[in-house]
Amino acid sequence: MSKRDYYEILGVSKDANESEIKKAYRQMALKYHPDKNPGDKEAEEKFKEAAEAYEVLRDGDKRARYDRYGHAGVGGAAGTGGYSMSMDDIFSQFGDIFGDAFGGFGGFGGFSGGRRQGRRRVNRGSNLRVKVKLTYEEIANGVEKKIKVNKYITCSECSGSGAKGGSSYHTCSTCHGTGQVTRVTNTFLGQMQTSSTCPTCGGEGQTIVNKCPACTGDGVVRGEEVISIKIPAGVEEGMQLSMSGKGNAGARGGVPGDLIILVEEIEHEHFERQGMNLLLNAYVNFADAALGSSLDIPTLEGKARIKVTPGTQAGKILRLKGKGLPSVNSYGRGDLLININVWTPKNLSREEREILEKLRDSENFKPNPAGREKNFFSKMKEYFTQ
Ligand SMILES: [Zn+2]
Ligand SMILES: [Zn+2]
Repeated sequence: MSKRDYYEILGVSKDANESEIKKAYRQMALKYHPDKNPGDKEAEEKFKEAAEAYEVLRDGDKRARYDRYGHAGVGGAAGTGGYSMSMDDIFSQFGDIFGDAFGGFGGFGGFSGGRRQGRRRVNRGSNLRVKVKLTYEEIANGVEKKIKVNKYITCSECSGSGAKGGSSYHTCSTCHGTGQVTRVTNTFLGQMQTSSTCPTCGGEGQTIVNKCPACTGDGVVRGEEVISIKIPAGVEEGMQLSMSGKGNAGARGGVPGDLIILVEEIEHEHFERQGMNLLLNAYVNFADAALGSSLDIPTLEGKARIKVTPGTQAGKILRLKGKGLPSVNSYGRGDLLININVWTPKNLSREEREILEKLRDSENFKPNPAGREKNFFSKMKEYFTQ
C-alpha cells in the first residue's frame, strides 16, 4: 500500500507552522486513540498514520527531507518502507505533545505512561542517532564504518538487573505486580475505567530491595561501544539505515533501542550526483575542439581517456556507461555524463591575437545554428527520464 501524504493525513497546508501541526495532530490522536475505539482496526491505522506524519513534520530536518524527496527521504534502510513507528514509539511521543493537557482527565489510560493495559512494562532503551559521512567512492562500493558511540550500556556490576549482589526483587505492593493501577473517573466522555502506570514501581511490577551502587538501580550506565556499520552501495544523502538493538540499553534488563544511521554525502571535487548518474564538467581547449584530441577525465575508479572528435561543440554530452553509482535497490548502475565545455582563453599574446584576428572573418568560423548541440538541460532531462 502506498503511503498517503503527511500533510493530507493531518489536514494541514504545506506551509503550516509548528503549532498548527501540533494542534492538528492532537485532534487526530484524541479522535482515533485506541482506548476510545477499542477493536477498531481502521481507527488504529489512522492513529498510527497520524503519529507517523507528526513525527516527521514536527522535525525541521525530517520535514525538509520529506518536502524534497517524499517518503523515500525519511525512509528506513534502503528507502524502502518509509518511516514507521511502533505503538510504543507513539505513546512515548505523547509526553511532549499532551503535557498537562490531560491533567483534568485524572490519568487517561495509555496516555500517561504510554503502556497498554494489562501488560507489565518492559523497558525499552531509546533509539540513538548518528550521522555517517560518505564519499562517492565509498557509496560506489559500499563500506563498513566503525563508529564509536556514546550510549547507555548494561551495567556490568549487576548485569543490568539494577539490584545489588544477591539482593532480590519484591513484588510491588501498590499494584501487586501488575504494573498498572486502575481507577474510575468521570470525564466529559462519560465514566471511564482507566488504568495507568503504577507510580511506585514505574510499571515494572516489582521493586528492588537493594539498589546496585554502580548504576543506582537503573541497570544501565553511560559508556561507549565501537559499532561496525555496513553501508550498502548506492545509498543517498538523507537516507536512514537502522540497526536493531544497537541503540541505548533498556533499564533493568529491558530491550535495547535501535541505532539510526543518517547518511550524509561528502561533496566531491569533480562530480555532482543526480540519482545514480554522475555529472562532470570537462573543458577542452578551442584548438582541440576544432582539430580533435583526447582528454583524460577522472572517474570513481581512476582516470579514463575519452576521444574528442574534430568539430566538437560546447554543450556536447558524452556518456560513459556504468561509470556512475549503483542502485541501492537493484543491480543497475548509473552512467558518468561528461558535459564538454570549450575553454575560451582569457589572456592573449600579441601573436595569438593576430592569428585569431585573421581567423575571425573566416567563413568556417561563423556559428551555424543547424550544427549546434541541443540545449544542455533538455539533454540532461532526457538522460534522467530514461
Ligand atoms: Zn548496576
Ligand atoms: Zn507497582
